[in-house]
Amino acid sequence: SHKSSAQIRQDFFDFFEEKDHIIVSSAPVVPQNDPTLLFTNAGMNQFKPIFLGEESGLKREEKTWKRAADTQRCIRVSGKHNDLEEVGHDTYHHTLFEMLGNWSFGDYFKKEAIGWAWELLVDKWGLEPDRMYATVFEGDEEDGLPVDQESIDLWKSETGIAEDHILKFDKKDNFWEMGDTGPCGPCSEVHIDLRPDEEREKKPGADLVNMDDPRVMEIWNLVFIQFNRQPDSSLKKLPARHVDTGMGFERICAVLQGKKSNYDTDLFEPLLDKISELAGIDYGDNEQTDIAMRVIADHIRAVSFSIADGASPGNEGRGYVVRRILRRAIRYGWDKLDLKEPFFHKLVPTLAEQFKEVFPVLVKQQDYVINVVRAEEKSFLKTLGQGIELFNEMVEGKDELSGEDAFKLHDTYGFPIDLTQLMARERGVEVDEQGFNRLMKEQKERARAAGKFGADHSDKEDWIKVQDTDDFTFIGYDTLSAEAHIK
Ligand code: ATP
Ligand code: MG
Ligand code: MG
Ligand code: MG
Repeated sequence: SHKSSAQIRQDFFDFFEEKDHIIVSSAPVVPQNDPTLLFTNAGMNQFKPIFLGEESGLKREEKTWKRAADTQRCIRVSGKHNDLEEVGHDTYHHTLFEMLGNWSFGDYFKKEAIGWAWELLVDKWGLEPDRMYATVFEGDEEDGLPVDQESIDLWKSETGIAEDHILKFDKKDNFWEMGDTGPCGPCSEVHIDLRPDEEREKKPGADLVNMDDPRVMEIWNLVFIQFNRQPDSSLKKLPARHVDTGMGFERICAVLQGKKSNYDTDLFEPLLDKISELAGIDYGDNEQTDIAMRVIADHIRAVSFSIADGASPGNEGRGYVVRRILRRAIRYGWDKLDLKEPFFHKLVPTLAEQFKEVFPVLVKQQDYVINVVRAEEKSFLKTLGQGIELFNEMVEGKDELSGEDAFKLHDTYGFPIDLTQLMARERGVEVDEQGFNRLMKEQKERARAAGKFGADHSDKEDWIKVQDTDDFTFIGYDTLSAEAHIK
């Protein structure tokens, strides 16, 4: 009798509400008024003006907030945090995931953040103390920062963790930054060792923390925001100190539901069932079809919420990221599950139903999202089969795909370069990326010289206002598909 994901989410809200946090809604995955960020990549994004003390960016009620908590839908497929290649191949990185978070805006600091994290995980949820590891920042010379001794001391005084389970790591793992600039600070993370006892006796979990091992997994990051990273990469002290935490919701659900993989939780079950029904293949049949099914179950989430939140497939910026994710899913379906007709949009209702309470935007935008996804898959399916055939001919007996060939796949068959790279990787073939980039640049220059903007035309479409969809004329991302013209 494990807890449902809905109950786990609610537990988190209840816990922090009792500690005087206001529960706020998730911001859209398309950041509002932040041109430095393609997609919302952490719960703290929407609070950036509060951290920076930018009064003007705040709504009236936000100015009075001292503590908040929420679940934020995040996308990590671009910029500083890009997990796309792991997705589907591992069991705990997603393109879109929920980040549970609690915040202090110049209010409580390390002591409460650390003590409460332990209280929730161990006292309330019953996780075993001797499976837990805490990591702290070891300091950094370049940034002129010392080891975070304060956090080490607090893990000892505020929790029941064993001393040799408190580990120091460098800034790659223990100094959190949203992007190249912005609010940031040292962090302290919780990791959990899920291996059976025999294995834990043979090799200490400490050796596997931060080693990309799904059995010793990072679950919660407690960030102590004290700085603003400047464009010249120096650190400027903020006027106040803040707490910013992020817990991977799908991961904690897997832990509390006793599953080895996020995909085995009730969060992914309905989608995998639907994919299984569409493909006529069971999940668990074999590794190759399992990867494809996980990729598809994952990608429909990122694609659907992006579109619902206002970023539709296109040739530039956010729109191109969405298109890349979508085409990646379609390729996996075609190649590994023999899904040769539009299928991806059929998953939208399953997802909308699942999230109708937490993220109602999808159920509201459901028809629109289905239409956009269907149009996009239809247009890609027109060239995908031929493109795959051509790709196979291009790499036959070779160990490198030329820049010209990669460019042709892109230009004529609509293969994003990361899709070509993925297919090449599957066959142990390298791609001449530099050659490809050179040809792309030349093409853009030719288009500019000719006074037209070629592929650039679509950047307007990245900015569709969700609220306006009723009377908004969507011009379509290319001329192939009549269905893209949605009134
Ligand atoms: P990892 O090292 O596993 O890639 P991270 O250190 O990049 O995680 P943070 O930036 O610290 O992640 O984000 C806070 C929490 O969000 C993590 O502790 C993890 O539980 C969760 N998380 C991060 N990236 C993903 C992802 N791609 N999919 C699902 N959960 C994630
Ligand atoms: Mg990461
Ligand atoms: Mg990490
Ligand atoms: Mg982390």
